[in-house]
Amino acid sequence: MDLFNKAYRYRRANDLKATGLYPYFRPITESCGGTRVQIGDRELVMAGSNNYLGLTHDPRVMKAAREAVDHFGTGCTGSRFLNGTLSIHEQMEERLAAFLQKEACITSGTGYQTNVGAIATLAGKSDVIFGDRDNHASIIDGARLAFARHLKYRHNDMEDLERLLQTTELVPGGGRIIITDGVFSMLGDLAHVPEIVALAKKYEARIMVDDAHAVGVVGPNGRGTPEHFGVSDDVDLVIGTFSKSFACLGGFVAGPREVIDYIRHTSRSVIFSASMTPGSVATVLACLDIIEAEPERRTQLWDKVAYMKRGFEELGFDVIDGGSPILSIVIGDDTTTMEFNKQLFEQGVFVNPVLPPAAPPGMSLLRTSYMATHTQDDLDEILGAFKVVAERLRIMG
Ligand code: PMP
Repeated sequence: MDLFNKAYRYRRANDLKATGLYPYFRPITESCGGTRVQIGDRELVMAGSNNYLGLTHDPRVMKAAREAVDHFGTGCTGSRFLNGTLSIHEQMEERLAAFLQKEACITSGTGYQTNVGAIATLAGKSDVIFGDRDNHASIIDGARLAFARHLKYRHNDMEDLERLLQTTELVPGGGRIIITDGVFSMLGDLAHVPEIVALAKKYEARIMVDDAHAVGVVGPNGRGTPEHFGVSDDVDLVIGTFSKSFACLGGFVAGPREVIDYIRHTSRSVIFSASMTPGSVATVLACLDIIEAEPERRTQLWDKVAYMKRGFEELGFDVIDGGSPILSIVIGDDTTTMEFNKQLFEQGVFVNPVLPPAAPPGMSLLRTSYMATHTQDDLDEILGAFKVVAERLRIMG
């Protein structure tokens, strides 16, 4: 048997292409200010990005990235552990720890890698991980690499979590950790962090919150879901990414000094992979300045999300609004969702179709997400296109 047979037999992508509904890997040739993109001969409003604060095209951020390239070059060509630590990496980690009101912070190449490295290094073979069933793939993969048991509770179901905590015996020397997304990436709903804190106290568990979609935008100061719920001090570890509000690429984990120091010296994602590029580090520092100095960007973002939610509801759509910059529109069956997506594209609007298993069965959705920099015209164009397509497909909420 040829090991490549699975690839030769793989038909799904080509079958979808044959129907004309294939929506993936669409090459953007130009990005106009972040809220508009050019794909082929079309200009589209971007309503499928995680650029929540619209900072990818902020002149101050772009200038900082260019200057860092001039000063340090384009890459570090080594891991933080060896030759890849720049003075600005240390500055960035100190600034992030202070921003999140944690003792220390360590970064790695992506949020994905950060989760994998931190979880695999912390959760040993006597330990138990309690994870939300809808957690991000990088948490699942970290748990797979860890030698710990991984028990999944039903999405945001605190009774199920308590049942698992109550009925799971620890082996001597073992510990517990509850891991959850702060904002769940597809539905955009928030974890029940205060309830998780209460259960963690009752059952002596540590807590890790992956706040990839929240840091920078959720909470009065943008410190994420723990701040939003007023429980920052009770969340042990915060994971984040720089690929969303921080407008570049990289990931971090923040928490108690000894734990971060342990991750720094034992996480394979830190030790065996190159450090963030100078341009990305400078981008994070510039974004952090703006996140701290311009709270009005968050106000603008939330006003826009509220406007869009009202707009979709007035059009009769079923909108999932979980309190994040993500509004998911429930369409229902897979084919209609893909057709809806294709027609939106033709109308000049870019969104992301989400099908099971990423969405609950029978609840395929169009995931829309917003930026502080979307203009009123951008928003009205998105609503207008949804209206036209819904009328054409004769589905209205
Ligand atoms: N965690 C969550 C909850 C995410 O949504 C994502 C990205 N979609 C990641 C981690 C991974 O982040 P990165 O893009 O930096 O690898």
